[in-house]
Amino acid sequence: MGGRKDRLLDVRIQDPYLDRNIYKDPSICPSCDLVFHNKTWHRDRKMLEKFRKDAEYKECPACRKIKDNYPLGLLILRGGILEDDKKLNEILNLIKHEAERELNSNPLARVMKIERREDHVEISTTTEGLATRLGKALSKAHQGELEFIFSESDKFLRVIWTKD
Ligand SMILES: [Zn+2]
Repeated sequence: MGGRKDRLLDVRIQDPYLDRNIYKDPSICPSCDLVFHNKTWHRDRKMLEKFRKDAEYKECPACRKIKDNYPLGLLILRGGILEDDKKLNEILNLIKHEAERELNSNPLARVMKIERREDHVEISTTTEGLATRLGKALSKAHQGELEFIFSESDKFLRVIWTKD
């Protein structure tokens, strides 16, 4: 079990939205103000002011994924813990907090949607790394079972957390 999980986590998903050649340097995302400079995206006020006039305006990969509804990760929460409103609130706060921390290292990692279904909760993310991070944080805080399912065909990671 452990070995399988480790192997799956080694898989790097090819992200079709990360083609850097379509962006001029500098570029600014009109939706979220990220700046593309020196081959990476930055959340940086000073850079934004500096490049505001000369930049090309084009949506960043994260905003494009959100518009296209194209997640690379899906975290699925299951189990009896979801029926406890207080616990569920705690869980959603933890997810929010972890997602904010992930933004510091990768400004393109975003939670896209949180959807309550009949017997589970689905959280879609723009990167597989964020779904992984959120799942690990939940299992660290509340134990439960964590499962990683990587789909070879659609290049998509499902992280399933179950806690009764
Ligand atoms: Zn953006």
